[in-house]
Amino acid sequence: MKEIVPAPPPIVRNQFETIRELFSQNVVPSYGRFDLALSHGSGSYLFDVDGRRYLDLGGGIAVCALGHAHPGITEALVAQSRKLVHISNLYYQEPQGRLAQALVALVGPGKCFFCNSGAEANEGLFKLARKFGHDDGRFEVITAVNSFHGRTLGGIAATGQDKVKKGFEPMVAGFRHVPFNDLAAMRAAISPATAAIMIEGIQGEGGVTPATPEYLLGLRALCDEKRLLLLMDSVQCGHFRSGRFQSFQRILEGVPGGDKFLPDGISMAKSLGGGFPMGAFWVRAPYADLLSPGTHGTTYGGSPLACAVALKILEVIEREELAANARSAGEFLKTGLEKVARTYPGIVQNVRGLGLMIGIEFAPGIPNLPGDPSKTQAIRLTSQLQAAGLLVIPAGASILRLLPALNLTRGEAAEGLRIVESVIARLVG
Ligand SMILES: *Cc1c(COP(=O)(O)O)cnc(C)c1O
Repeated sequence: MKEIVPAPPPIVRNQFETIRELFSQNVVPSYGRFDLALSHGSGSYLFDVDGRRYLDLGGGIAVCALGHAHPGITEALVAQSRKLVHISNLYYQEPQGRLAQALVALVGPGKCFFCNSGAEANEGLFKLARKFGHDDGRFEVITAVNSFHGRTLGGIAATGQDKVKKGFEPMVAGFRHVPFNDLAAMRAAISPATAAIMIEGIQGEGGVTPATPEYLLGLRALCDEKRLLLLMDSVQCGHFRSGRFQSFQRILEGVPGGDKFLPDGISMAKSLGGGFPMGAFWVRAPYADLLSPGTHGTTYGGSPLACAVALKILEVIEREELAANARSAGEFLKTGLEKVARTYPGIVQNVRGLGLMIGIEFAPGIPNLPGDPSKTQAIRLTSQLQAAGLLVIPAGASILRLLPALNLTRGEAAEGLRIVESVIARLVG
């Protein structure tokens, strides 16, 4: 039968709602997302689909080392893709060799393996630890409480937070967790089965907690004494974010014996590719050939395209002195935030971090904080800042993280501080 009543005109919806609907119908809902659909960016600014501008101090969770739409990255992608995108790891190619050489020069004598993400880089280090301990029956890796090491089965077993494990038991065997920055607890946890220790130089997801110099030096001595590998997950805190290539280099600056410190393995990702998916691990010279031909691999790892982008990012960081900028812009932000904390002691409890990896810890139970009370304060505060035009990253129950582009300008940092202060002032009433 023909319809007599004409169909109503389509409901006019804004673009955000249309996109959100596509997600709710078609995308696995494994992420809690903020009500924001982004369309493009430039440097430290992002624009949503309705044309609203945001200052991005989250940097895609410490990934966008050069900000958004950096012309150097575009140029590297275009130039390399005209030559070669991918060839597999059956053959040699210059960009991967040159990138490995650059990373070795930045860390110390050793070799690199390339993969596609942080979790995968850590998986490689776990396999390295198992290979290392295999002949004397050792396999265990001890990690820290509140650590984060990725979302693969190995990654969640290694991560010292119950919330990532829940529902996915049984865990991969061979991981235990001890309190961070507690050398005695680490020593007590070592068993005849232990092969390695893995820590973050600055815990990221756990709420921006740097390792102390004593802890790093103590772990090195402990690993030497017990013949263990010391592995560092630098996925978030690495790549000049702290003001030095590696956070341990920054933490140990000026500390007696600090310049001799080297871990045995380092995982990298996030800022390494600046948004192009890429991971890597570095392994110290004595162990660099443990993973012999046929023992480990990944199809895409270290493609010419990924390596060309990573090389370009290193070149720009060096040419524009972005390590020094991470240090000074980070200091400027931290000093400003400490001032805000002194003005609003009931709201902001603590500001911590190194370089452009900063955590702002809020007091629990802030009265009058708008938003769904079933959500954490960190998420509700992030939404408040977003509404005021600033993007940050929540961590834990009440911590906000700033992980901006390494080329953040002083003016942008000042704008971020103004927005943070105005939102907090509004909370106080
Ligand atoms: C993000 C992160 C990972 C996981 O990296 P993915 O690329 O998401 O797999 C691992 N460790 C740390 C410290 C991280 O911050």
